[in-house]
Amino acid sequence: MSVKKVHPITCRLIDWYSEHKRELPWRETKDAYRIWISEVILQQTRIDQGSDYYHRFIEQFPDVTTLAAASEEEVLKVWQGLGYYSRARNLHQAARQIVSLHNGEIPSSYSGLIAMKGVGAYTAAAIASIAFGLPHAVVDGNVYRLLTRLFAIETPVDTPAGKKATADIAQSLLPEEDPGGYNQAVMDFGSLICTPTQPRCGDCVLQEYCQAFAANAVSAYPVKIRKTRIRKRYFHYFHILHGDRTYLQKRDRADIWKNLYEFPLIETEQDADFAQLEQSSSFRQLFGNLPTLQIDPPLILQHQLTHQLIHTRFYRVTIPEEAQFTPPGEILSISQEALHIYPVSRLTHKYLETI
Ligand code: SF4
Repeated sequence: MSVKKVHPITCRLIDWYSEHKRELPWRETKDAYRIWISEVILQQTRIDQGSDYYHRFIEQFPDVTTLAAASEEEVLKVWQGLGYYSRARNLHQAARQIVSLHNGEIPSSYSGLIAMKGVGAYTAAAIASIAFGLPHAVVDGNVYRLLTRLFAIETPVDTPAGKKATADIAQSLLPEEDPGGYNQAVMDFGSLICTPTQPRCGDCVLQEYCQAFAANAVSAYPVKIRKTRIRKRYFHYFHILHGDRTYLQKRDRADIWKNLYEFPLIETEQDADFAQLEQSSSFRQLFGNLPTLQIDPPLILQHQLTHQLIHTRFYRVTIPEEAQFTPPGEILSISQEALHIYPVSRLTHKYLETI
C-alpha cells in the first residue's frame, strides 16, 4: 500500500491546530446532522453568534426527523436574525428529502451529500470529511485566502480556473489520516491568523512557505476580477395600529427575506419623505381615503446586507378605532400581541425592539 507523503505545510497546520483548536460544541461530535447544521449556520456568520443559534436550533430540532416534521415558519422563526434565510428553507427541504429518500439517514457519501437541497461542494466536503472521514478538502473563503497567499496564485479566485487551481492545491495538501480534523485546522487558521485585513504574519507558522509574504505582497491576494456592487434600496414600513389590531404581510417574491413577515411596505426608487409618499398610488392603495391618520415621526434605520444597503423609515400610524379600515387582500390583520409569533427579518426585529 502506498502512503501519501504529508506536505510540510499540512504538518505545520495540524500541529498549530492541536495547540490552538477552539473548543466548539459541534467539534465534540461526529454526528452528521449536527455537523451539517453547524456548517450551514457558520456560513456568513461569526462563531460567537453562530454558537447561540446552533444551540437553539439543535434544542428545537434535535434530529432530521424533527426538522422534517416542523413547519417552514417554525424553522424560520428559530433562524430569525441570522440572515440568508434561504439556508433555513434549504435545510428544512433537505431534511424532508432525507426522510423520504433515505429513511431519515444522512447520506454517507460525497455524491449523496451534494445531492441534498442547498448543499454545495464546501458543505458536502465538510460533512464527508468530519463525520465520515472521507478525503474531500474544503474550500471556503478562509481557504481561498490562505492558499492564494501561500502559493501566490494569480488566477482570480472568482473565475472557474482560479477556483480549480485553489481546490487542486487544497486537495493535494489533504492528509490521509483525519482529513476532517485537517479541514477544520485550515479554516481556523484562515479565520484566526491569515485574516482578510491585517493577517498575523509575525505569528504565522507558515511564514517561511508563504510566497506572498516573501514578495511583500500579502494584500494583493486573493486576486479578484469583480468588485461587489452595492444596491441601494429605500423601504418605508407602516406599523399600523387600529384598535387592538396591527397588520403584516408575507414576502413571497423571489427577493431578500422570502417567506418572512413584515409591516406593509412601500419601496421607492429614491429616498422619499412622507409628503412624497402620501402622493403615491401605493399609499392610496394601502390607506384608501381615510380622513384622519396619526403619523409619528419615523424611526430611521440603515440595514447593510452583502449586496444591498437598505435605507428604512418605520412609520407608526394610528387609525381611529371607529374608522373603517380594509387593507389590500394580501395584508394580514393580527392582534398586537401576536406580532412576536411571526418570523421577521433582522431589520424588522431591530424596530420591534424599540417599541
Ligand atoms: Fe497568511 Fe501572512 Fe502566514 Fe502568509 S505569512 S500565510 S499571509 S499569515
